[in-house]
Amino acid sequence: RAKSGGRGAAAFYDPEMDRQVGERRALENDLRYAVARRQLRLVYQPLMVAADGTCAGYEALLRWTHHERGEVPPDVFIPCAEETGAIIGIGEWVLAEACRAAAGWDPRLSVAVNVSAVQFRLPNLADTILDILSESGLDPARLELEITETALIKDRATTLATLHRLKERGVRVVMDDFGTGYSSLRNLHVFPFDKIKIDRGFITAMEDDGGARAIVRAVIGLGRSLALPVVAEGVETRRQLDLVTEEGCTIAQGFLFGEPGIPQGASAPAQGAEPPLRPRQAGG
Ligand code: C2E
Ligand code: MG
Ligand code: MG
Ligand code: MG
Repeated sequence: RAKSGGRGAAAFYDPEMDRQVGERRALENDLRYAVARRQLRLVYQPLMVAADGTCAGYEALLRWTHHERGEVPPDVFIPCAEETGAIIGIGEWVLAEACRAAAGWDPRLSVAVNVSAVQFRLPNLADTILDILSESGLDPARLELEITETALIKDRATTLATLHRLKERGVRVVMDDFGTGYSSLRNLHVFPFDKIKIDRGFITAMEDDGGARAIVRAVIGLGRSLALPVVAEGVETRRQLDLVTEEGCTIAQGFLFGEPGIPQGASAPAQGAEPPLRPRQAGG
């Protein structure tokens, strides 16, 4: 297996690198069967109205319990699933499951679903989502799609067409992890976003870092000029909540309000039972 010659080629056999490649292959392969083996589930994290502490909705977050490895974190398996295309089937399952669950909640609560860049390359994604919505009976206005900037770079024309079709039906679109990608400002201008989520890194750094705080303030100012509400993700302390509220964030999400979990009182999230937190009052 050792290679020689060729600029930059590894000149020696590296068993560690071999092991990592093998590991990754194994994970990729197991992911193909994860839906069929019922190893995937969704947990839901509350999105809180910063001003009054009521719940506006939940973000669905995917969990994978592997038959041998146990819990594999999404930051590990999502990129794997994206590489092989397994994310397409998995992503459909996530959308269907989240919509079905949310259809059983208080109708004032929204559900946010993360959609991968790979899914946005599919020309029929809008149809798939509209079918899922009508099968679940969920009002499209209660569905929010969370997109990161990498999704926008890959295939702008297809993504834009998909978003416009979905928006016509009332689905809302959120820019996730804002501040970590490329050409953020242009993306905000070109794509029809309804909300901006500031990346957790800025919120974490805010307490002791004036620079991070200045960025949060600037993003909120930008949101205000574009009439887009700004969500703070990763709020862990009361002090962080006070700071983001002071700066004008309208929605906050983070371990301070609860880790992602099963909505209380539900035998399983799939049953779509009443979530634990008081919903926002209609119109308020
Ligand atoms: P994300 O969409 O930005 O989700 C927020 C992540 O931050 C979640 O991690 C959540 O558990 C975590 N988080 C929330 N509040 C706090 C906090 O106060 N402190 C800290 N330290 N963390 C907090 P998770 O569930 O591990 O997901 C990681 C990423 O994996 C997500 O980031 C998203 O990009 C991706 N992901 C998760 N579920 C899905 C899915 O169904 N589809 C796709 N395509 N991606 C998903
Ligand atoms: Mg998200
Ligand atoms: Mg995020
Ligand atoms: Mg993220």
